[in-house]
Amino acid sequence: MKTALITGITGQDGSYLTELLLDKGYDVHGIVRRSSSVVRSRIDHLTRNSSIYQKRLHLHYADLDDATTIRRLLNRIRPDELYHLAGQTHVAVSFEVPESTCQFAAMGTLGLLEILRDCESPPRFLNISSSEVYGAPVETPQNELTAHRPVTPYGVAKSFATHMVRVYRESFGLFACNAICFNHESPRRGESFVTKKITRSAARIKRGLESKLILGSLDARRDWGYAPDFVNAFWRILQTESAGDLVLSTGILHQVRDWLEVAFEHVGLNWSDYVEFDERYMRKADPQTLVGDSKLAQERIGWSPQMSFEDMVRAMVDADLVDHGS
Ligand code: GDP
Repeated sequence: MKTALITGITGQDGSYLTELLLDKGYDVHGIVRRSSSVVRSRIDHLTRNSSIYQKRLHLHYADLDDATTIRRLLNRIRPDELYHLAGQTHVAVSFEVPESTCQFAAMGTLGLLEILRDCESPPRFLNISSSEVYGAPVETPQNELTAHRPVTPYGVAKSFATHMVRVYRESFGLFACNAICFNHESPRRGESFVTKKITRSAARIKRGLESKLILGSLDARRDWGYAPDFVNAFWRILQTESAGDLVLSTGILHQVRDWLEVAFEHVGLNWSDYVEFDERYMRKADPQTLVGDSKLAQERIGWSPQMSFEDMVRAMVDADLVDHGS
């Protein structure tokens, strides 16, 4: 039986990855920030299950910049695989708090690599990178060889981390990989992302709890995939024979407007009756042509996205319709 350690276990991807690894028979350990405000609702169903929690699923308190505690945990747990998912993932927020974004996403990842470098038998390591590294891309679609040209502090920090993972793989022989992820959504997506904001609002308007939805650019385009498809790829990447970097994407661009159309139509409403514009939600710099080419993932790990765009949007609206907390 294998053991995995996950940073960012309470996030969208962390919660799906935990379910997947538990299903595969892993012992799963998660690192949880010490801050008292950590929202654990995405893994509540697992921590409330007494046949799993503290038997095959364990949570440990540590901050990523606390190298001593992380090293101690690694020595104690001796995981076979380490999935590094933690991070402030909101691009717009990275303009408000660029230093802490970089401290965490860039230096936090380097800190982990430094600890792995000293391990006698280091775990296989997966870093979750982001399409934001491509920023204003030099080519479209983007693949593993496309040059990085980030346009946000978040993208710069992720680019640093992505290169460091490669350098440590090449220089110190670590089994260290990057999953360069394009956007991926699910019912567990945080509410500040436009996707969840739209599906939640469509559901709330339908239920009579809200009457309008205020957004920024409706023309903004992204390559939006489905988070459970992506975590399946995370696991596959660490099962391969040789370490490397892979782009994970659907290869299809959609606009914010497409989310509105599918989500509101699903609840029998016309989105243009409810949506208002506010300058506040416009980005200082916004990548418009980020679309991934994940042919290499198809070749190396036999991965391709399974969920269609429309089914994903509808599934998110359905979840928001029954979510009485929202
Ligand atoms: P990310 O920026 O790709 O990580 O994902 P977001 O969901 O935050 O934003 C996706 C796109 O939606 C961006 O291009 C935003 O400019 C656009 N957008 C339009 N209105 C909104 C809004 O109200 N909130 C957010 N977060 N994004 C919006």
